[in-house]
Amino acid sequence: MPTFDSDVCVIGSGLSSAMLSDKLAERSPGLAITVVEAGAALFDVGNRIKYRQRSLDYDESAWPGDIIEDQLAEGVICHTMAVGGQALRWGGACNRFSQEDLRLKSLYGLATDWPLPWEELEKAYCEAERRLYVAGEPSPCPGDGRSEPYPRAPVPMSYNTLVLRKWAEQSGFRWVVLPVSRNVTPTPDGRGTCCVFDTCTSVCPTGARYSPDWTFKRLLSQKKIVLHDRTLVRKLVLHDSKPSIAAAHGVHQDRPGEVAEYRARLFVLAAGYAWSPHLLLLSACPRFPDGLANSSGLVGRYMNGHKFFNAQATIDTQIYAGLCGADSLLSREYLRCPTDQPYVRHDLRVWESTVGRRPRPRDEKGQYLFGDQLMEDWRARVRGGTVRLRSYYDVHPSIDSRLALNPARKNRYGDPLPRIEHRFDETTLSREERVQQHIRAAFDRLVRTDNGKILSTSVGTYLDHPGGGCRMGDDPSSSVCDSHGRTHDHENLFVVGAPTTPTAGCINGALTFAALALRSADRILEVLQGH
Ligand SMILES: Cc1cc2nc3c(=O)[nH]c(=O)nc-3n(C[C@H](O)[C@H](O)[C@H](O)COP(=O)(O)OP(=O)(O)OC[C@H]3O[C@@H](n4cnc5c(N)ncnc54)[C@H](O)[C@@H]3O)c2cc1C
Ligand code: SF4
Repeated sequence: MPTFDSDVCVIGSGLSSAMLSDKLAERSPGLAITVVEAGAALFDVGNRIKYRQRSLDYDESAWPGDIIEDQLAEGVICHTMAVGGQALRWGGACNRFSQEDLRLKSLYGLATDWPLPWEELEKAYCEAERRLYVAGEPSPCPGDGRSEPYPRAPVPMSYNTLVLRKWAEQSGFRWVVLPVSRNVTPTPDGRGTCCVFDTCTSVCPTGARYSPDWTFKRLLSQKKIVLHDRTLVRKLVLHDSKPSIAAAHGVHQDRPGEVAEYRARLFVLAAGYAWSPHLLLLSACPRFPDGLANSSGLVGRYMNGHKFFNAQATIDTQIYAGLCGADSLLSREYLRCPTDQPYVRHDLRVWESTVGRRPRPRDEKGQYLFGDQLMEDWRARVRGGTVRLRSYYDVHPSIDSRLALNPARKNRYGDPLPRIEHRFDETTLSREERVQQHIRAAFDRLVRTDNGKILSTSVGTYLDHPGGGCRMGDDPSSSVCDSHGRTHDHENLFVVGAPTTPTAGCINGALTFAALALRSADRILEVLQGH
């Protein structure tokens, strides 16, 4: 059996792993760090313009090779498995939760509190924003105070977004340009800069939008980590006599019959919200028959995420559809809720929309349109503007919101794959209709200012920015790990980022996952130094 020894073995190479590995390597230069990733290292930035074009022309994947065909799971919303993880495809939106998210129980009697003070998370947010070069402007909403300014000025708004901001402000809601990890001026890591064209699809051909593969490429070129890609960790192995982890067993895609043993002083599970609890459950052994780190029975429980409500609406304000569909405005107006009022928390987002505003070959009666007729029809339909509106709203998982092993679906090695079913606690279910009405009323208030009309509404069919499955807490009987991700059961096993979140807030999650992973790195360094 080939064996590999290091100080730290990190399983997974998504955003949380990139933040953590980078910080560990920076703070402790001699540390031997091995990163093991199930998917491939797609370090081919030169091909990305070609991939993007093929994805536009033929609807092909803009990330060929980022999926492992037999490593798919029911209820997982993104199947990317590659160096960089889901953040190869992300939009780069970097939003902070609000203080209320950490104190749901104390403030509102709901869900649970997070076991860390806001000040510590806020400090970690600042660090994550620095490392991700987040571009943003301070929020005008009281309660959104920051201890440091954004590292970068906000990305310049397109003409449409400037016009939409004036329109949106008439409603009385306060807006900011969405904070993003997107360079308009060069960064020291050699990524490209963004010309703010309307090219933000699932691949950024210049690297202006951050993705973790850049961090890993740099760490590899500086020889600060060893990366084993295309290697699925199938099992964590318990020490013979102690409750610590002795090894991780992985299999390289080209050598399916050979088990590679990774031995380390400390193991970090950075495999995302689905595969982290999955690996713990798969690693069940006689001393931990329900899975490692699972003496609470909560591995794979309290799977979370936020729901979302969408609308398309027309307004009289003239915009020119198609200038920059990626640009958006954010209002954090309803991120906090007075404690003496019915609980409603959600964000508000506005984008330009092309719905109903493209040229069409037939009119509404089905008659074909040619030449001048087509142009006349098109001109008539592009007067005013169409906007896309969206709200993420806060929902809380029940204990039955669950990731479980599915014996009916197995990968090539015979390991059962995960099945995720999200469920909500009773108070979430009982307020759902009222929350949606609240969001609808906010949308109405927005469009009313400009003679607008809501064309359609819909509720998302999945939970966005999923997390949970290894929730953090102070009490080992009601949580899997502490606030640094150190599992209560195994002193040398940490879980980082999304899986550790008890609840999902009502705004994009990745910055929070990154911040938590950076905070975990501090503790990991202390543990390695024997503290
Ligand atoms: C299209 C899209 C757009 C998004 N846009 C945004 C956005 O704008 N803002 C935002 O906040 N969030 C966004 N997100 C979500 C965000 O990208 C994710 O929350 C974040 O990247 C998760 O990072 P992670 O490190 O937790 O996990 P992942 O990215 O899932 O990384 C985990 C890695 O671990 C590997 N792995 C898993 N199991 C094993 C194993 N057993 N052995 C070895 N390796 C393993 C996986 O292959 C994967 O590479 C978006 C997501 C998608 C899909
Ligand atoms: S608009 Fe900017 S960030 Fe978006 S894909 Fe183009 S270069 Fe990348």
